[in-house]
Amino acid sequence: MKGTLEIKDLRVQVEGKEILKGVNLTIHPGEVHAMMGPNGSGKSTLAYTIMGHPKYEVIGGDILFEGKSILGLSPDERAKKGIFLAMQYPVAVPGVTLANFLRASVSAVRGYGKGSGNGRTGSVGSHLMPMREFRRELKENMARLKMDISFASRYLNDGFSGGEKKRAEILQMAMLKPKIAVLDETDSGLDIDALRIVADGVNSLIGPDLGVLVITHYQRLLNYIKPHFVHIFYRGKIIQSGGPELALMLEEKGYEWITEEFGG
Ligand code: ADP
Ligand code: MG
Repeated sequence: MKGTLEIKDLRVQVEGKEILKGVNLTIHPGEVHAMMGPNGSGKSTLAYTIMGHPKYEVIGGDILFEGKSILGLSPDERAKKGIFLAMQYPVAVPGVTLANFLRASVSAVRGYGKGSGNGRTGSVGSHLMPMREFRRELKENMARLKMDISFASRYLNDGFSGGEKKRAEILQMAMLKPKIAVLDETDSGLDIDALRIVADGVNSLIGPDLGVLVITHYQRLLNYIKPHFVHIFYRGKIIQSGGPELALMLEEKGYEWITEEFGG
């Protein structure tokens, strides 16, 4: 059960409209799952629901993490349990560097709160991970991801390119060391560069303790990430699951056959 995410007959509505219509999916540690499907089929809805976005109302089924329902938990609490959703659009806070943002976010998720015993760093940093420890981890992770250390000094969202946003996202994931990572690739504006950054990052973080759900509209992402399982998502549910061969089939046939077979 450790690190396992189970989605059971999940039904979700958004603003009164049912979007997810019975999703079943189990992700064990060490597994990479790819979720693919046409625009508007509900892929992002699934990602937001896993993370606990308040707009997405669960009307049936359950989401279990390590055997327990997480439906009653806030996004914050889910993050502390080790569930990570890559943020498509990190909050723009002018004057905050990527490093500061990461230190705040890692400190929050790891629970460097009041009385956590790190007060010796002084009052200013008392709710934050100690600076030396943070810098060391940051350097290690940036080296592992082949990122230039100067990138961490850039102001978050200050003219970040699509690729740089992805880099920041992957670095955040590396720092947070989640047990389950959900990467939702928006359906527009991702160039090959950005796809490759995501793929290289995910590939270098994959290990026996990490379960990954990569959501994408693009078959081509899977030229770089090798999933163990591929699921085709259509109209609020998984209509087919298989191995990597399913992605190849999608690459060949596109999504049109789905409409023909499953109704348009
Ligand atoms: P995908 O990621 O597969 O493109 P989405 O989950 O974004 O699909 O959208 C599925 C459906 O849910 C769409 O019809 C979309 O309009 C609707 N939807 C998703 N999120 C919201 C929202 N926050 N408010 C209103 N409708 C939404
Ligand atoms: Mg989407």
